[in-house]
Amino acid sequence: VANEKESMYLVSEFANKYFHNTLLHTEEGKAIGLTYFKERGFNNDMIAKFSLGYSPNSWDVFTKEALGKGYKLEFLEKTGLTIVKEDKQFDRFKGRVMFPIQSMSGRVLGFGGRILTNDKKAAKYVNSPESEIYHKSKVLYGIYHAKQAIAKHDNCYLVEGYTDVIQFHQAGIENVVASSGTALTPDQIRLISRLTKNITVLFDGDAAGLRASIRGIDLILEAGVNVKVCAFPDGEDPDSFAKKTPYEKLVAFLEENAKDFIQFKASLLMNEAKNDPIKKADLIRDMVVSISKIPDRIKQEVYLQECSRIMDISEDVLFNTLAQIDKKDL
Ligand code: ATP
Ligand code: MN
Ligand code: MN
Ligand code: MN
Repeated sequence: VANEKESMYLVSEFANKYFHNTLLHTEEGKAIGLTYFKERGFNNDMIAKFSLGYSPNSWDVFTKEALGKGYKLEFLEKTGLTIVKEDKQFDRFKGRVMFPIQSMSGRVLGFGGRILTNDKKAAKYVNSPESEIYHKSKVLYGIYHAKQAIAKHDNCYLVEGYTDVIQFHQAGIENVVASSGTALTPDQIRLISRLTKNITVLFDGDAAGLRASIRGIDLILEAGVNVKVCAFPDGEDPDSFAKKTPYEKLVAFLEENAKDFIQFKASLLMNEAKNDPIKKADLIRDMVVSISKIPDRIKQEVYLQECSRIMDISEDVLFNTLAQIDKKDL
């Protein structure tokens, strides 16, 4: 089994080199893939750093190349690079631009592949399937290139997508990782918490991004990690925003708009229904539930005070509510 995993790592590394090489040095790769990345505003340094690639738009060119180099079909199939159907072989990522997903130590575990057309019927992103070496709930895109900056800044920006990570690096902000389309998991948070106890969530400025931020907060707090949330303007994501914002302004925006979770939740209420007492009550309860997740009693108390001040409700009531929630949990 150790051998099997090693063979899967090797074929993944081969695929990574093949896709990257295809992007940079073939007519099709240059005309389609490289043009796409350039149009998105990625420079050569980022294309090299993240080893971006292109998978040819034909049924099995990659698979044939790999087999020709002596890689076994068994491991092409186990890594999901090749799909085998009725004895026929298909390249999973046919005609897509490629984002290799690396482990903390830099090994290639799997890939995300983006479609180039606006075909609404096809999936925008296709990912490697779960395998012996790729467990999507345990990886964070960009962790390998972010780990030093995360430790240095003692903070980690958490974004949704591959392109958000890359655009931030290009802008000069390197302490950033992406959950890549899966809902944030405890294992992913543990990975970050080895490097820092501070996470700033930067999800897309749309309904899905908002929902994902809210879900993430309690999980992060439960892990004993401090969480801030920075909302983006409607319709923007960290990629689109960073692309058109000069470095100083971007840093200032992140600093000014990163709110602790109490302030963030309070601002949601302002947007929804300022003068609706029932909604306000629901939101306060929701804040106390979040506070109940924090393992540190002193921090709990500090956030209760903040909640009391911002929502204009007595600390006693909040404290009793917290006690009730704690009891229910037992
Ligand atoms: P782009 O800017 O290229 O359109 P994005 O990263 O902004 O991509 P989102 O729609 O915001 O894309 O989705 C965030 C992340 O969720 C993606 O980067 C990708 O990892 C994942 N994702 C999105 N759509 C799919 C899909 N159809 N299948 C699997 N994963 C997806
Ligand atoms: Mn989105
Ligand atoms: Mn997005
Ligand atoms: Mn985007």
